[in-house]
Amino acid sequence: MTSLLKSIDSGKEYPLNEVRFTADNGELLDVQHDLEGLKKQFGLSKEYFSQKRALLNGQPTGGVWHFKELVLPSIPDQEVVSKQEGNTRLYRSKKISSWLGLNSDKFFLKHEGENPTGSFKDRGMTVAITMAKHLQQKAVTCASTGNTSASLAAYASEADLTGIVLIPKGNVAVGKISQALAYGTKTLVVNGDFDDCMRMIREAQEKLSAYPLNSINPFRLEGQKTIIWEILLQRNWQVPDWIVFPGGNLGNTSAFGKALHEAHQLGFIDRMPRFAVIQAEGASPFYKAYKNGFTSLKTEKADTIATAIKIGDPVNYPKAVRALKWTNGIVETVTDEEILEAKARVDAAGIGAEPASCATVAGIKKLIASGEIKPNETVVGILTGNILKDPQVIVDYHFNKKTEHANPPHEIKASINELKNFL
Ligand SMILES: *Cc1c(COP(=O)(O)O)cnc(C)c1O
Repeated sequence: MTSLLKSIDSGKEYPLNEVRFTADNGELLDVQHDLEGLKKQFGLSKEYFSQKRALLNGQPTGGVWHFKELVLPSIPDQEVVSKQEGNTRLYRSKKISSWLGLNSDKFFLKHEGENPTGSFKDRGMTVAITMAKHLQQKAVTCASTGNTSASLAAYASEADLTGIVLIPKGNVAVGKISQALAYGTKTLVVNGDFDDCMRMIREAQEKLSAYPLNSINPFRLEGQKTIIWEILLQRNWQVPDWIVFPGGNLGNTSAFGKALHEAHQLGFIDRMPRFAVIQAEGASPFYKAYKNGFTSLKTEKADTIATAIKIGDPVNYPKAVRALKWTNGIVETVTDEEILEAKARVDAAGIGAEPASCATVAGIKKLIASGEIKPNETVVGILTGNILKDPQVIVDYHFNKKTEHANPPHEIKASINELKNFL
């Protein structure tokens, strides 16, 4: 059996090469691989991936395409559109771990802001744009809180595809819209919010045959799975107790769950880590659904300073529920104030990340305080986007905030004596 598309509840199957994003009954689709077949064909094992030093089109793969066998095994190497995404660092930080009250040997931050366009979206984009090319699509689109459009723009340029991005008016960080414009994609500013843009993209797929590169596209999630594969590889296949990350459209939640489920099925790991998905209080439909035992999802009007997770109607909800069940996961919320405080700590540790990413660290803080995460447990937090994505939030904080971490600049006369005062 080769890979195919399979609806997540009723198991209806469609060919991998069919351009579709939901089953006829509306269910989301998984890319379903024949794990046993692939295991035999390639001799897949922990050692296989630990020792693999493969080349893709003459360059060392690393990152996403290091795991090609589990991402998109049937695509010829020459068709892959890649900017060597992935291979991101797994940081330790004594400053942050001691603030959190965690053992510094057991706390790690995986920095997805160190991807080619500055967010984890590149991991999904390399796979989905490769597929768009393979399926001979002409135009690719997305709704975006910013990072998806930045990533789409760069990859559409590389692949020579027409890119059109829809972004909600007034809600996109300056670094992100700058990238979309600079990489040369058509940028449409919509008088509405992200959820309005997302609805338009789904309609444009049906009515205008525009190929969507949002995380409803199951190939995006195959790429994002490799964040988990890389963590396992970097930790020499030691499973952490917790993996903590922000939740917006819930693509990562879904992808990470699938990665671990597959790793478990392949026998690479013998237990599951627990997920803690962190939402901003003002954009927390997943948290509320979690609290009611996932009996229903109530969409909401989202509001938070963390624009990358300002989403009230997450498209991947059913897959995310499944992921939480697989990992005995939990969902927590944090306030914008808590996000900003955590961000000040992450930034001042010399690591830095955009606001949505720092919801991860704010969430860990809260979960340690509530006793959910124990001080001696191993915790991997995901930083999803680069510090330079949202400079306005940083400037506002350091110029205007009266907190212990605010670090405003000082104006001085051009004299060495004035400089002396500061040394
Ligand atoms: C897209 C994005 C998120 C949200 O991820 P989902 O997979 O949609 O839940 C979080 N942080 C950053 C920086 C993002 O770009």
